[in-house]
Amino acid sequence: MRPGGLLAIASTISSTALSQSPLPTFVRFRAPHRNHSIFSHAFNHTASGRSSGPSCSLQNRRIFFGGSNALMSLEAVVRNRESLEKKSAAIRSAGPSKLQVIADFDGTLTKYTVDGRRGQTSHGLLQQGNAEYDAKRQALYDYYHPLEYSPTIPLEEKTKLMEEWWEKTHGLLVEGGLTFDAIKKSVADATIAFRDGVVELFEFLEEKDVPVLIFSAGLADIIEEVFRQKLHRSFKNIKVVSNRMVFDDNDRLISFKGKTIHVLNKNEHALDMAAPVHDNLGDPNGSVNDYSLVKNRTNVLLLGDHIGDLGMSDGVEYENRISVGFLNGNTEESIGSYREAFDVVYLNDASMWGVIELASQLCSSDQ
Ligand SMILES: [Mg+2]
Repeated sequence: MRPGGLLAIASTISSTALSQSPLPTFVRFRAPHRNHSIFSHAFNHTASGRSSGPSCSLQNRRIFFGGSNALMSLEAVVRNRESLEKKSAAIRSAGPSKLQVIADFDGTLTKYTVDGRRGQTSHGLLQQGNAEYDAKRQALYDYYHPLEYSPTIPLEEKTKLMEEWWEKTHGLLVEGGLTFDAIKKSVADATIAFRDGVVELFEFLEEKDVPVLIFSAGLADIIEEVFRQKLHRSFKNIKVVSNRMVFDDNDRLISFKGKTIHVLNKNEHALDMAAPVHDNLGDPNGSVNDYSLVKNRTNVLLLGDHIGDLGMSDGVEYENRISVGFLNGNTEESIGSYREAFDVVYLNDASMWGVIELASQLCSSDQ
């Protein structure tokens, strides 16, 4: 992965851990623009591995006996329904005015596979219209990417290496004369798509005045262009917190704003970093310019596709946080660690409909 890459996570799953799987208690939510209601099948696992809810469904029993193929038929896993329900009740009780959503972009809001091909990231899709510089960025990728995933490099050293990688890459984009037209063309040619239900999730949150911070080690200008081209609209409650470019009058890149956000520091002081980076509100999304207000929203719904994404809420002194993880690959190897890390884990490139159900439950006025 180019700058914006993720640390590898690997662990093992016990097939017996999937044996006790009562259905969840999410509210039913009628999906906008759909003529059927949806009901996501999230499966519950208690810390002890015992069922804490109603009896298992036939589907779940099939999963239990399904061996490694069983994970292919699961949509979601909930480790501890009791804990999830407790957090949900607390967030619902505080009301939408105390809630904020913090989301990763690549692989979280976007699909992992698009038309059978691996989806591109906001960094990876960029062709700067200069083959020499594209090759130079590729050479950096070839050098630094293995270091990003190396299990033997200490964190402090790896952080420095990631800073180097991102800054060199950004330097090449400036030196190579990246234009905004190249960004537009790159996005138009890219293999990238939002998960089904993302628009409806944003619409729902906009209606409830719940801010969404999209926090990414990618490139804000590209993410926003993806919004323009793929969604053809913006949302007043959404703010992209990412590396932001400065263009001259000829739409040629001349610098980057603020501190470089890379894969190992996107989790630190996210909101503090956001303010100076996003001092202009000329971007299509975003009116969440009062970060003190966002900080006062002490209930968090966090969406990520990597365990490291959990750190995106480190800048918030939250009271309650529900974390949702999208496990996009190495499912069998990683489900164990994801299940321990996230409150809900979605599998198999799931849609966003289950998150909409969860968000509707969190914003419900029913106590
Ligand atoms: Mg991601």
